[in-house]
Amino acid sequence: MTPVAASRVLVLNSGSSSVKYQLLDMRDGSRLAAGLVERIGEETSRLKHTPLLGGGSEAREQNRPIADHEEALKAVAAELAQDGLGLDSPELAAIGHRVVHGGKFFTQPTVIDDAVLKEVERLIPVAPLHNPANLTGIRTAMTLRPDLPQVAVFDTAFHTTMPESASRYAIDVKTADEHRVQRYGFHGTSHAYVSRKTAELLGRAPEEVNVIVLHLGNGASASAVRGGVCVDTSMGLTPLEGLVMGTRSGDVDPAVIFHLMRVGNMSADEIDVLLNKKSGLIGLCGDNDMREIRRRIDEGDQEAQLAFDIYVHRLKKYIGAYYAVLGRVDALAFTAGVGENAAPVREAAVAGLEELGLTVDGELNSVRSDEARIISPEYARVAVAVVPTDEELEIAQQTYALVAPPEVRNA
Ligand code: ADP
Repeated sequence: MTPVAASRVLVLNSGSSSVKYQLLDMRDGSRLAAGLVERIGEETSRLKHTPLLGGGSEAREQNRPIADHEEALKAVAAELAQDGLGLDSPELAAIGHRVVHGGKFFTQPTVIDDAVLKEVERLIPVAPLHNPANLTGIRTAMTLRPDLPQVAVFDTAFHTTMPESASRYAIDVKTADEHRVQRYGFHGTSHAYVSRKTAELLGRAPEEVNVIVLHLGNGASASAVRGGVCVDTSMGLTPLEGLVMGTRSGDVDPAVIFHLMRVGNMSADEIDVLLNKKSGLIGLCGDNDMREIRRRIDEGDQEAQLAFDIYVHRLKKYIGAYYAVLGRVDALAFTAGVGENAAPVREAAVAGLEELGLTVDGELNSVRSDEARIISPEYARVAVAVVPTDEELEIAQQTYALVAPPEVRNA
């Protein structure tokens, strides 16, 4: 009997107090199960597991204390086993881990070994919130299935193609190099997936197409992608730079920080919290959910309107900047929670940019759908598109491409 090639990939996204997961079958990219463990280490942890095999069935929920990532992953493994999809299954080909910071050297998905773990650990100073949690997830998964390939897919990898003119800050070179201060960019898995899907939507090869991608979720970033290759992105050393986000300020004059230290008597940690957690939309109007902001605007709320206007103004500046970086733009793609759902944001972001060939069709823009779609009129020089992102599928595909036997990969 010919052995069946293992075709399943478990995707793990480990945060500091949460683990999100999906199990996919790479023969057709279908989901077999998905879920989330949150509030790990707190009194009321929660595990929500959704079986998706064969049309799926009711989600199962557990509300009980889950002490750490090891207990969380064991609970996930038990849920999967209950659906006949246990981690001990010979059909599981690999586990793909989202790793936020891969620094300069991880330009590709990478099979994890001790050297890789060490390097991810070495990057903790530039990603103090994310990399430790990612490492905990990887180490736990390795103890559960030590024989299985574990692959790291880095959020920064897609951006490592940026030329130095875009990735270097104009600060003293020696100081920058000593502390690895440069622009890395994040959300790379999403920018890679969406830029490729956008080319597909246009019926063209990614190599032929220049795309500006706007990933607008709670975190938000823009990228300029020339022929499938990232040439600039709005996040920098950390995910704080660039667009106005749910709770992050995006670009500010760096002197704001010295001013708040000297005149406002704030510590570095306090300013860190201010700019990452209490700024952006929530700092401007008290809400970070675009649905709520639109509702308030409809009721005539001026504070919400100003927050919206600042958000859109920043978007427009980045569209203009990346238009200039690319020289020729074939498509502008909106993705993530706000980008996929908020028609008023899309409309406002391109309003007045007709001279650049950018415009949306009001009717197409207002259609709600989970499908990738073009929302610009046929005559428009630049296609404006809504392209739902799928970071889990991208991580699974990148993982599988690395571990699948060649005869399966090339089938
Ligand atoms: P995350 O960065 O947490 O992954 P998402 O991509 O899921 O974020 O985006 C979450 C955000 O999407 C919410 O905070 C909300 O502002 C926005 N959002 C979700 N649905 C809608 C909607 N129907 N209309 C407007 N905004 C929406």
